[in-house]
Amino acid sequence: MESCRTLIAGAGVTGLAFANFIDSNDLIVLERDTEIGGYCKTVKQDGFVWDYSGHFFHFRHKDIEQMLVSRMPPGEVQTIARRSKIYLGESLIDFPFQKNIHQLPKEDFIDCLYHLFFKDEARSGQVESFEDMVYARFGKGITDRFLKPYNEKLYACALNALDAEAMGRFFPYADLEDIVRNMKQADNSSYNATFTYPRGGAFEYVKALAAGTPAGSICTDEALLSIDLEARVATTSKRQIRYEHLVSTLPFDALLRACGLPVDPGVFHSNKVLVYNLGFDRKGWRDVHWAYFPEKRYVFYRVGFYDNIFASDRMSLYIELGAPTGAELDVEQNLVRTLEDLKTAGIVDEHQLVSSHTVTMNPAYVHITQSSAREVTRLRRLLGSRGVYSAGRYGGWTYCSIEDNILEARELAEVLKPIRA
Ligand SMILES: Cc1cc2nc3c(=O)[nH]c(=O)nc-3n(C[C@H](O)[C@H](O)[C@H](O)COP(=O)(O)OP(=O)(O)OC[C@H]3O[C@@H](n4cnc5c(N)ncnc54)[C@H](O)[C@@H]3O)c2cc1C
Repeated sequence: MESCRTLIAGAGVTGLAFANFIDSNDLIVLERDTEIGGYCKTVKQDGFVWDYSGHFFHFRHKDIEQMLVSRMPPGEVQTIARRSKIYLGESLIDFPFQKNIHQLPKEDFIDCLYHLFFKDEARSGQVESFEDMVYARFGKGITDRFLKPYNEKLYACALNALDAEAMGRFFPYADLEDIVRNMKQADNSSYNATFTYPRGGAFEYVKALAAGTPAGSICTDEALLSIDLEARVATTSKRQIRYEHLVSTLPFDALLRACGLPVDPGVFHSNKVLVYNLGFDRKGWRDVHWAYFPEKRYVFYRVGFYDNIFASDRMSLYIELGAPTGAELDVEQNLVRTLEDLKTAGIVDEHQLVSSHTVTMNPAYVHITQSSAREVTRLRRLLGSRGVYSAGRYGGWTYCSIEDNILEARELAEVLKPIRA
């Protein structure tokens, strides 16, 4: 039987980053897919560059960014001031919605402001869910127009099922003072007021990580199938491997199954996202990088414009539709509906579709609930005591960015580093 000190399951951002930081060459990275990158893959087709779904970057740790960029050709990464909008009624307003209610028609503006001012403060004492949180903080006007319908489309679940902190730092908070001040002095800054994006797509960051992994350590087309926790032996689709530590980036529920542990579907649930990448023969909307569509009359919740990021002359879209993990989604039918809805919104008129690509990300946004948070903490501790560490966005059953994945991998590598004599 083969053996290694560290077995890594998954060659997405987290697995590759861990392989960069662990101070040992005695490792094997298993990747079920034929390609590395996980969700951070890029497709190049007919002159269009598309990610699996729009992946944009906001590094807060300059050392991490520098490590990645230094492994890329000079000039590869562009920094762009974000222009994101919300399409409501027949108009576009600036994101975040709650800070730009003054851009709404007068009646809507008054209603949002009235409810923001007289919101039920008493409710903030009993915030148990994401839905409670948005009503308590922003009132009924803002919540019913944007926060509730948009997030219901995205998460594909009732918002009272989600924990109040389900989006963590990715939720753009604003208080009454911020909102009123923004009416005169626009300050739409949030965690991603600017973003970086490589000319070759998000996969350039994956290539940069792969360049720092020990030669020959990545085994694609090899899935981790099961784990014997007692013997510390993994069975893959090709062999058995004895390990000292196993770092898994599989979705947490899949890891539990691989270990023969029970999985409660009432605790671990998520959405999936169907993505259409569509290339057209001519330019479309200008001056917007992505737009949110809260209204239920549109099948999609977000449309992104790669051509406005690359300053190219043919409209290049990514379009995201949310659904519960187990739901049947007819890809052809939804494409027809998507194209109709793009026409209704005025994004497509005489445009000819010249290239397309589809991918389903499943899971995409996990449903963070009080019970999922509790169970992940409890079971991670149990697995850790047997040498199995669950990491990454799906391994941690969380909402995070690739930078967070890289940081987590670095911290875990520090914990698991070999002790040198
Ligand atoms: C719609 C959407 C948009 C996003 N946009 C952004 C963004 O703009 N910016 C940003 O920073 N982040 C974004 N993210 C988050 C980002 O995609 C993730 O944080 C990151 O890709 C997670 O990397 P990971 O390695 O933890 O997981 P994954 O990418 O899921 O990698 C896990 C790997 O494990 C492999 N695997 C699974 N099962 C097995 C098995 N049994 N055996 C072996 N291998 C296996 C998979 O094939 C995969 O390669 C977005 C996510 C989504 C869903």
